[in-house]
Amino acid sequence: MARKTRVRFAPSPTGPLHMGGVRTALYNYLFAKKRGGDFIIRIEDTDSQRFVPGAEKYIIEALNWCGIVPDEGVDAAGNVVETASERHPHAPYRQSQRKPIYRQYAEQLVADGYAYYAFDTAEELGAKRAEMEAQGQTFIYGLSTRMGLRNSLSLPEAEWKDLLETRTDWTIRFKMPENRVVKMDDLIRGHVEVNTDTLDDKVLWKRADELPTYHLANIVDDHLMEITEVIRGEEWLPSLPLHYLLYEAFGWTDTQPRFAHLSLLLKPDGKGKLSKRDGDRLGFPVFPLQWVNAEGEVSRGYREDGYFPEAFVNLLAMLGWNPGNDQELFTLEELVEAFSLERVVKSGARFNADKAKWFNKEYLRKKSVSELTDLYMPVLESKGITGFSREYVERVVALIQERATFVADFWDIASYLFVAPSTFVEKDAAKFWKEENYTLALKVADFILGFEGEFTKENLEGPLEEYIRSNEWPMGKVMNCLRLALVGASSGLGIADIVTLIGKEEFARRIEYIKNTL
Ligand code: GLU
Repeated sequence: MARKTRVRFAPSPTGPLHMGGVRTALYNYLFAKKRGGDFIIRIEDTDSQRFVPGAEKYIIEALNWCGIVPDEGVDAAGNVVETASERHPHAPYRQSQRKPIYRQYAEQLVADGYAYYAFDTAEELGAKRAEMEAQGQTFIYGLSTRMGLRNSLSLPEAEWKDLLETRTDWTIRFKMPENRVVKMDDLIRGHVEVNTDTLDDKVLWKRADELPTYHLANIVDDHLMEITEVIRGEEWLPSLPLHYLLYEAFGWTDTQPRFAHLSLLLKPDGKGKLSKRDGDRLGFPVFPLQWVNAEGEVSRGYREDGYFPEAFVNLLAMLGWNPGNDQELFTLEELVEAFSLERVVKSGARFNADKAKWFNKEYLRKKSVSELTDLYMPVLESKGITGFSREYVERVVALIQERATFVADFWDIASYLFVAPSTFVEKDAAKFWKEENYTLALKVADFILGFEGEFTKENLEGPLEEYIRSNEWPMGKVMNCLRLALVGASSGLGIADIVTLIGKEEFARRIEYIKNTL
């Protein structure tokens, strides 16, 4: 019987989640949901030296913001689940809390001849490394060196058994078999073969902190959590032979998950991996949410930069996957429907900051005026702008929605609909505020002030243009002169739009102000 699809995202809380990590989570989520399966979050925190406070919380919050909601691993309140229940049968989902589980598995491998105890201290290993490097060789703990090191394969039984009792700093290492070709299949890369002679004897478990290393914990948990596919970043591809051999050693090959290694996200110029530092250097975020490190340094986040989560998810999905047609805009539900690993590309996906903005602009265009107004009202408030009705703000938003990429742009595009300009762009003023223009512009202003019909754009626009045209005045120059008075610059919305929004009185005030100022 086919097993239920179960995939997991297994971040290590060693810092904020890079957008590449969010993409990995997203692809796992899409894969699971498309197959009616489960998406699980597991926190791989067994490396206490790399633990960063706040990182776990950040990761969960980031996934939440994206709408990537796990079926297991995190409860409704966003906490990693610690106690097993019907919905979370495999709890705890934090590896540090699963500590007692792993030792027996490591010991079982030793008993079955797939692993051994190693007693070398860090100093001894350092000396060995230095000695080999002095001879122009690189040191690996493995087939060619293990018999010359201090472990349960090289030492007499009585001696290592004694060390096992008396010392608390030993490890269990995997015994990499000699000259075996490991044949592996990757759902994205196809068939891969590696000879074990190039591989080292990785540490699986450490007596010092009684914790497993990533490799052991990962395999044991994927097995216990009944994971059917492992979808992860390509930096884990070199570990795949070891993982295959571990499944074999445990006798779990029948239920071994299938593997898919995702290619990297590349820098905009395509040269190398998009790194955590690239964002600040090149002026775009690489993190989903803003992150402040222990030194107080701030890294930008998509959320704080004004991206909509739907746009962020959409742009991430398209970095390394395509639907096989021209469609670029997908809701999360549509992505679930369209996604398949077959259409994930093998090569690295180049990040394009302009394209990222394009996605946000498209989502902003599709939003309702009411939703955008909800988002814009607090921005206005933060600028000390009060006293405008919601209806007024909605009219402004409707007028400028098409021009903006982010909600924050609304202010830059049309702050003059809330506050009168107090300065005028110098080069625009020099170009348009000339006597031959402004005498005409002031006449047009009088025409507007004397306009008797109801003050709407539809009523005003036609007669206004007709008035200028019939007098054979230069339309562009006159309009730009008026715009200078209303906007502070010669660019901006149409005069009829501005005037009907700010109203006659405010219009008159701005005309007076520019007359007295310029
Ligand atoms: N903890 C690993 C990481 O942070 C997970 C790798 C995997 O998915 O197997 O990338």
